[in-house]
Amino acid sequence: MPSTVILWFRRDLRLDDNPALQAALIDCDRLVPVYVHDPDSEAPWAPGAASRWWLHGSLASMDQALQTFGTGLLIARGDALAELRRIVAATGATRIHWNRLYDPTTRDRDGRIKQALRADGLRAESHNASLLFEPWEIATGTGEPYRVFTAFWRRCGARLSDVGPLPAPTTLPPPPESPDSLPLENLALLPRIPWDTGLRETWTPGETAALEQARAFVQGRIQGYASARDLPALAGTSALSSHLHFGEIGPRRVLAMVREQWDDPTADPVETFVREIGWREFAHHLIYHYPHTTDEPLDRRFAALPWREEDADRLLRAWQRGETGIPLVDAGMRQLWHTGWMHNRVRMVVASFLTKNLRLPWQAGARWFWDTLVDADLAANSLGWQWSAGCGADAAPYFRIFNPVLQGERFDKSGAYVRRWCPELARLPDKYIHQPWTAPSALLEHAGIRLGRDYPAPIVDLKASREAALAAYEVVKAAG
Ligand code: FAD
Repeated sequence: MPSTVILWFRRDLRLDDNPALQAALIDCDRLVPVYVHDPDSEAPWAPGAASRWWLHGSLASMDQALQTFGTGLLIARGDALAELRRIVAATGATRIHWNRLYDPTTRDRDGRIKQALRADGLRAESHNASLLFEPWEIATGTGEPYRVFTAFWRRCGARLSDVGPLPAPTTLPPPPESPDSLPLENLALLPRIPWDTGLRETWTPGETAALEQARAFVQGRIQGYASARDLPALAGTSALSSHLHFGEIGPRRVLAMVREQWDDPTADPVETFVREIGWREFAHHLIYHYPHTTDEPLDRRFAALPWREEDADRLLRAWQRGETGIPLVDAGMRQLWHTGWMHNRVRMVVASFLTKNLRLPWQAGARWFWDTLVDADLAANSLGWQWSAGCGADAAPYFRIFNPVLQGERFDKSGAYVRRWCPELARLPDKYIHQPWTAPSALLEHAGIRLGRDYPAPIVDLKASREAALAAYEVVKAAG
């Protein structure tokens, strides 16, 4: 009997450095690469609209790559366990391999699936493709999970030289007689109303693009990353986040590429970039050990924080649409809507503005990001929002409230970023680009702007709203 093995792809859509694939290939005569679309089991965190767009491209690219090896991706839809059982029955597979995910809903589901398939008599094994270190491998001296990044990353640093990527296979076994794949289009991942022009203009999902992009970054822009990464008008960062989220490239490969160019990845000029990969690890460490942090603050005192009730819907909508009247915030929210991505510095600014100046719950911001980011990642998004709201691990203290005008003047000095995403402000001089409401009316008129008509007047007063946020914070302090 030929040995038939199922490789269950999830967010590991690559051939390179894929431990489940390498394990599947051992003593394998027939390989069945499978993807099961099962959004119900991921609720309430099934992929949002922008993620689904990316997933479509990534699955198409995976299928194409497999076809060059004479095989292809078997796409199914429905309850993952039922679908896997159907494929086992049709192919006579005796083994199944997949790579682990760490967010609470998929973790529970995968645990149940592993148990059920083993009870059916299958060998079912999971592996680590997406992290440098498993969340349980890194612990404090007393065996506890970390809650502070610097200590966590120091502990990882001592072991960084141990991790390296696996090679991509050079051949793949043929598929057995198997059920027909669903056409990718049947998953209906692409939007019905085509709002995705900006996404198509900006991104190329898939492993080939991920490897090319990582190589180009590591051979070039990484040198200037430490200073350029904070300037949203520049393409100073790697833009690898969605590729990493969907597992089109893994962090071990990224690290290996860095090592090929630079002897020590933990030294300048590349240390700052590698540390960001560390933040990604930390985010997964946290979500694994504190699964409630997708919805609730890690620092429980913040559950008592009084959020704004009055006018909340209108203010949330203005933030979502990039119509707050605060240029850096609006530019960021429009970049997000158009491209499915926002620069990290601006993510921090818009998140601070929502949670502190508008005093709207961070969960509402996280939900919007979940639907609109192509790199929406439950671990990184929960960490990012809790960090910004001041209620997470290693968070900026609550009372450190970003001033979006000063942030703009510092990191978008010439206003190039704001001018790009808020073209109605383009003719304002640099001096007023981050605070048009302070410009003399003659100057506004000359620039073709009537505040409140061509561009909104600020929806909140920055100073008064900052003070109101600090007053609300007194409740948290009292709860501590
Ligand atoms: P680079 O600067 O080139 O960094 C390299 C990689 O490191 C990134 O691709 C990413 O995988 C990882 N990384 C960088 N910063 C962080 C971070 N703070 N936390 C975790 N990983 C990090 N990142 C996501 O991938 N998905 C999200 O849903 C997400 N939501 C966020 C929400 C908020 C409110 C904030 C403040 C940050 C969020 N981030 C998120 C983190 C960060 O903004 C993005 O990872 C980064 O902007 C992606 O761009 P890049 O690939 O060019 O990053």
